[in-house]
Amino acid sequence: MNTLNCKVLVIGGGPGGYVCAVRAGQAGLDTIVVEKARVGGTCLNVGCIPSKALIHVAEKHHVLTEAARGDSALGLSASAPGIDLSRTQVWKDGIVEGLTSGVAGLLRKAGVRQIEGTATIVDGKTVRVETDAEPVTIRCEALVLATGSVPADLPGLPFGGAVLSSTDALGLTERPETLAIVGGGYIGLEIGGAYAKLGTKVTVVEAAETILPQYDTALTKPVMARMKALGVAFELGVQAKAHDAEKAVLTVARGDEETGIAAEKVMVAVGRRPVIEGTGIESLSLDMEGRFIRIDTQCQTSMRGVYAIGDVTGDPMLAHRAFAQGEIVAKHLAGDSAHWDKRCIPAVCYTDPEIVTVGLLPDAARAAQETTATAVFPLQANGRALTLERKDGFVRVVYDKQNELVLGIQAVGAGCAEMAGEFALAIEMCATLTDIAETIHAHPTLGETLQEAALSGRGLALHI
Ligand code: FAD
Repeated sequence: MNTLNCKVLVIGGGPGGYVCAVRAGQAGLDTIVVEKARVGGTCLNVGCIPSKALIHVAEKHHVLTEAARGDSALGLSASAPGIDLSRTQVWKDGIVEGLTSGVAGLLRKAGVRQIEGTATIVDGKTVRVETDAEPVTIRCEALVLATGSVPADLPGLPFGGAVLSSTDALGLTERPETLAIVGGGYIGLEIGGAYAKLGTKVTVVEAAETILPQYDTALTKPVMARMKALGVAFELGVQAKAHDAEKAVLTVARGDEETGIAAEKVMVAVGRRPVIEGTGIESLSLDMEGRFIRIDTQCQTSMRGVYAIGDVTGDPMLAHRAFAQGEIVAKHLAGDSAHWDKRCIPAVCYTDPEIVTVGLLPDAARAAQETTATAVFPLQANGRALTLERKDGFVRVVYDKQNELVLGIQAVGAGCAEMAGEFALAIEMCATLTDIAETIHAHPTLGETLQEAALSGRGLALHI
């Protein structure tokens, strides 16, 4: 059997793994990354990028549909649009192909050896890889676990046939007439919203009484209202039980009472499961935090020389968190130290309208600090939002009224995702209301709403 040695061995070439490997390679560390599918992981292949591609196509379809119906206030007219999802898939696959081969190129440029195959951890310094050719044993000084996560299924609704995971739903080549989305989290609502705009009759089925339970209702209300306006139905407080593909019916239960929902396809989006079982990670007996690997501030696990990054370490399961952790580990291994503050990780839901959050939500801030206050500015008073025909939503700044320190920023509104960087910068740099209020924002931009919210916290809002 072939045996290789290296300083850093990264298992998984997703956002966490590839960033860690590139940075370690650039720091001159002899690095190997093992990936069983295609580098780029969930994010590039079946997550962030394919979902945003579908959302983009769906929005275009929706604009044309409105124009064809004569509903366009802009004076646009069009004939009823069609959609050839198989061509959409070709376009989307081209973007994914470009990005993933770009990542492979970055790894090569950084001098990282890439091994295609499935890794099984033998011990903290040894990994066996099954490849298309003969198996390889790799010995390393530092092991980085970046195996990511996969969609979780539900008892009674195993994936297969008409029961889809997010990966399946993003790869459809024909538009379903009816689609039930089980799970009112961001993945379900992003994909469900996109299919609704493509003309599918979508029903969101959620066991809780609310969608996006991590947010307050002020943030989720505009999303619910818009989705309803797009024809999406919500069945909240119900359990999805079973799907009859022949009858195209999903059975749901509210207490003892069962009803059927029209659903040619069902997408189950009830969360993601860390990839640990079957990888040999279990045999390391690492300290765990629930289902996830416990790590310290430098992403070290309870075993010396073994690190874990990305989705396998828990929430928030986001690509940019995995990137940041990959950077931290590479720096640490290169003898440098890096720190990060969980509060500064932005989160964006690409629902319509988008939700953006960074730092503390009002309730969490109030629990930590009695002198918390909030300042809100509505999009309906923003010129850019009006020209985009989307005045639903607001920007909210959560701050400490004793010293004006900004503790959190949230927004809901079409196009607000692009403000996530500015929000994160403000929290990272410990901005005060004055810092934001006195920063000149370009006009007309949605970003002015952040400045106006900060001004309003100081009793000085200009345009309201
Ligand atoms: P992954 O990306 O899951 O990569 C892990 C890699 O490890 C995989 O390529 C896998 O093949 C490989 N692997 C696993 N086991 C082995 C093994 N034994 N041997 C070899 N290789 C192995 N996040 C955002 O920030 N923004 C978004 O807009 C966003 N949208 C999303 C939309 C959808 C539909 C989904 C599903 C996810 C989305 N995410 C988004 C989440 C994001 O994709 C993940 O947080 C991110 O990919 C996690 O990176 P990771 O490196 O931890 O793991």
